[in-house]
Amino acid sequence: MTDYDAIVIGSGISGGWAAKELCGQGLRTLLLERGRPVEHLKDYPTATKNPWDFPHRGLPPRGVLDENPVVSRCYAFGEATQHFFVKDKEHPYLQEKPFDWIRGYQVGGKSLLWARQTQRWSPFEFEGPARDGFAVPWPISYHSIPTWYSYVEKFAGISGNKDGLPQLPDGEFLPPWEMNCAEKYISDKIMQRYPDRPVIIGRCAHLTKPQPIHLEQGRGQCQARSLCERGCPFGGYYNSNSTTIPWAQRSGKLTLQPFSVVHSILYDEKKGRATGVRVIDTNTIAVTEYKARIIFVNAACLNTNLILLNSRSQRFPHGLGNDNGLLGHYIAFHNYRGNVSARFDGFPDGYYYGRRPTEIFIPSFRNLRKDEGLGFRRGYMSYFSASRQAGWQNQGSTGIGGAWKGSITEPGPWTVAMGMQGETIPKFENHVRLSPDLKDAWGIPQLVTSISYDDNDDRMAADFIRQGSEMLEAAGCKNISGFNNHQNPGLDIHEMGGVRMGKDPKTSLLNEWNQLHACKNVFVTDGACMASTGNQNPSLTFMAITARAANHAVDELKRRNL
Ligand SMILES: Cc1cc2nc3c(=O)[nH]c(=O)nc-3n(C[C@H](O)[C@H](O)[C@H](O)COP(=O)(O)OP(=O)(O)OC[C@H]3O[C@@H](n4cnc5c(N)ncnc54)[C@H](O)[C@@H]3O)c2cc1C
Repeated sequence: MTDYDAIVIGSGISGGWAAKELCGQGLRTLLLERGRPVEHLKDYPTATKNPWDFPHRGLPPRGVLDENPVVSRCYAFGEATQHFFVKDKEHPYLQEKPFDWIRGYQVGGKSLLWARQTQRWSPFEFEGPARDGFAVPWPISYHSIPTWYSYVEKFAGISGNKDGLPQLPDGEFLPPWEMNCAEKYISDKIMQRYPDRPVIIGRCAHLTKPQPIHLEQGRGQCQARSLCERGCPFGGYYNSNSTTIPWAQRSGKLTLQPFSVVHSILYDEKKGRATGVRVIDTNTIAVTEYKARIIFVNAACLNTNLILLNSRSQRFPHGLGNDNGLLGHYIAFHNYRGNVSARFDGFPDGYYYGRRPTEIFIPSFRNLRKDEGLGFRRGYMSYFSASRQAGWQNQGSTGIGGAWKGSITEPGPWTVAMGMQGETIPKFENHVRLSPDLKDAWGIPQLVTSISYDDNDDRMAADFIRQGSEMLEAAGCKNISGFNNHQNPGLDIHEMGGVRMGKDPKTSLLNEWNQLHACKNVFVTDGACMASTGNQNPSLTFMAITARAANHAVDELKRRNL
């Protein structure tokens, strides 16, 4: 069958939501995925393995590291998880400037791998570009999406505390995780010293108390194993494989087709609309065209840019919808360059239960209500955790005798690790484009990435390092050390933009409902649609925007506007 009501490209976090909503509204939907099938539970081969079950105790061996210099920089890449990551050699791209492109090509995409931190944006992020004069004003405000945030939060299951903060609006929360004794102490001290810096427990997509809707999905309580990137045998965290895709399948309206890489979107000049997609079977290289009335592009930010740039026709010689030449430009990401670490000497008899899947957060306190003239634009969120070193780490690697053995069974000192997640300014020069000559194994042009950090980012990182160090000092920490890790863009894995939303077709690609201005039956609802990055983890916003756009698309189909 090649004719559908809707086509969704990509089965990750945003594509899973598009498929669920469109199927739920009765549309016969084709979900195209370039990677292999990954079925919840069945295809999590390492989920219940212990460290000693792995030939290298979980570490990737030297050969794997040498062959994968980019993806192995990701903290989650290891012997237990490597099967869910794209290997560098198999999917080359051209780095005009260093860019670590971390990808997961399989059913479920990066939803299998993500760290599951889920904060809502606040009005400060949506108003940012207009207020501070960068990028383009958002065509939607915070008030366009709280109901959609609530909708996706209830279904996905988000744990958190209602903190009542304007800079981090509350959601529909399951019970929060708890701070340990050291974190509570440090948090209290920071808030005493800085009353305008609330310190809160992170919000994350974990079932701390499954509700009937989650049990109906076949998911259960999170066990605090923190082995999530292997896939969870309890369905304790949200991924597309356990949640949105099976839900869409239940409707009887979904056709899930793996091993199907979308080459381009087909445009009919006479009809003035997209009619379908050209797909290459990744095993046989056979080419098939599929038709639909609407198309959702959810291939993750840079691949979505690639597909649109590669969708050339007489009407759109520079890529679908690219009348203004801005497609692929204004790519932005999150600033993760600042780190602070410290030792904490209190609570020698304090410990904690399990491996909590979230951290402690200090929402943005910089340039929140106005540009404060600090020498950098926009703000950052800080996160930290305090944990006890394992005794064997503290004692050195060698020893002998009963006393030594006994000592390494005791927990070591408390250490504190703090990081930042900063907003970056989308700029025209940060862009992706198609290589004119190099192609991938399926004959699709390779992507050229030309994206870099800038001075604003490094000034922001320097401010974070100063402020983070001062906060930990105020909390009584010792041996405080801050540094700029100079990591490449991309390693944050929060790339956004290139197909940004906006009010004006001259300066943006998508309207307020995520439709291409120039081709209304094509919707882009992954990170590519973002006009700016905010400082919160982005995926919850992608989910809310996707659910909103999908329901609008169905309404428009019913009104015969599409
Ligand atoms: C280690 C890690 C930690 C992270 N932590 C967080 C976090 O704490 N919070 C947060 O908000 N975000 C986090 N992220 C980012 C998060 O995973 C992404 O924002 C999210 O997955 C994006 O959703 P998506 O649907 O756009 O893309 P993906 O989930 O990547 O899905 C895209 C899908 O499209 C498929 N595809 C690509 N090209 C084509 C094509 N041409 N044809 C057909 N299919 C195609 C891919 O194979 C993939 O399955 C993290 C990511 C990683 C890897």
